[in-house]
Amino acid sequence: MTDPGVPRRFERAVVTGGAGFVGAHLCELLLEEDVEVIAVDNLATSSADTLDALRRHDKFRFVRHDVTQPMPLHCRADVVFHLASAASPRDYLALPLETLRAGSHGTEHALDLARRDGARFVLASTSEVYGDPLEHPQREEYWGNVNPIGPRSVYDEAKRFAEALTSAYRREHGVDTGIARIFNTYGPGMRAHDGRMIPAFLDQALKGEPITVTGTGEQTRSICYVEDTVRGLVALARSGHPGPVNIGNPHELTVRQVAERIKDITGSGSPIEEIDAVVDDPKRRCPDIGLARDVLGWEPKIDADDGLRRTAAWFRRAPLR
Ligand code: NAD
Repeated sequence: MTDPGVPRRFERAVVTGGAGFVGAHLCELLLEEDVEVIAVDNLATSSADTLDALRRHDKFRFVRHDVTQPMPLHCRADVVFHLASAASPRDYLALPLETLRAGSHGTEHALDLARRDGARFVLASTSEVYGDPLEHPQREEYWGNVNPIGPRSVYDEAKRFAEALTSAYRREHGVDTGIARIFNTYGPGMRAHDGRMIPAFLDQALKGEPITVTGTGEQTRSICYVEDTVRGLVALARSGHPGPVNIGNPHELTVRQVAERIKDITGSGSPIEEIDAVVDDPKRRCPDIGLARDVLGWEPKIDADDGLRRTAAWFRRAPLR
């Protein structure tokens, strides 16, 4: 394994899930840094349209492939970012077995690629590994409070398994791995109907429909603008740190506060309405990002008002919300 203290340099990156929301922003950042990028995606929860902007770069290539099958790539990569997985509750509840396979078989194939090429490997894990946490804010040492058999377990446990597999490849095969635990990320490029809070609220606010908060709306989330998140993933890749490292914005807001800010920013007259609570919905979610600050020199730069304004501007222009 490469010396953990030596910053990694990359010429070619593989990004599984590269046609998705976070993946496309990650590809864009890597291309800006002059890294050649191969995005691998089966378009299960994204569309080929996302790729149009990326295809303008000479150094971008797209391979349509399901990561639950062995990787069909023959060229050597220096870094593999593994993001391929359904990620929004609506998607993973509709694709339960596919989500478990993406986290298990998919992660193993992505790790095998990194092992073959002697590449750095970064797993896009999630704050969902903390489940409905009993500790606040969540530090990486916390083992979590996950219901292993509830409907959300297909995502949470797939990611927990993916973390275990990544750690075992590091120990058993010496693969240079890093685990990022990503907290709620939002920004331009999200699908309005993917079931996640911010695109749903923006869509409702812009259409003048009621903004629907689940339960009382007093549950908290910490929302991170996507440009900050992908900078964190690249910082982790360039470091030799194994993680897990929390990548998120520690500014905690209630779901109702997010709805109110979106209402103000869009100038919407929509009322805020309560609807049924979601099963196993976490009551509080807030990252401790001390480790990311210390070992990656990373912290988010874009606050919620700025990020929500940028996202609202994109949603207003988006042709097919
Ligand atoms: P997304 O649904 O927009 O993107 C996921 C991408 O993975 C899609 O393009 C989809 O087609 C692809 N994919 C799914 N299964 C696949 C398979 N078997 N083979 C190939 N491609 C497959 O979701 P996102 O928000 O961009 O999330 C990306 C990653 O980041 C996911 O792993 C997710 O768990 C993680 N993450 C995201 C957030 C967030 O708030 N967005 C938070 C925590 C973790």
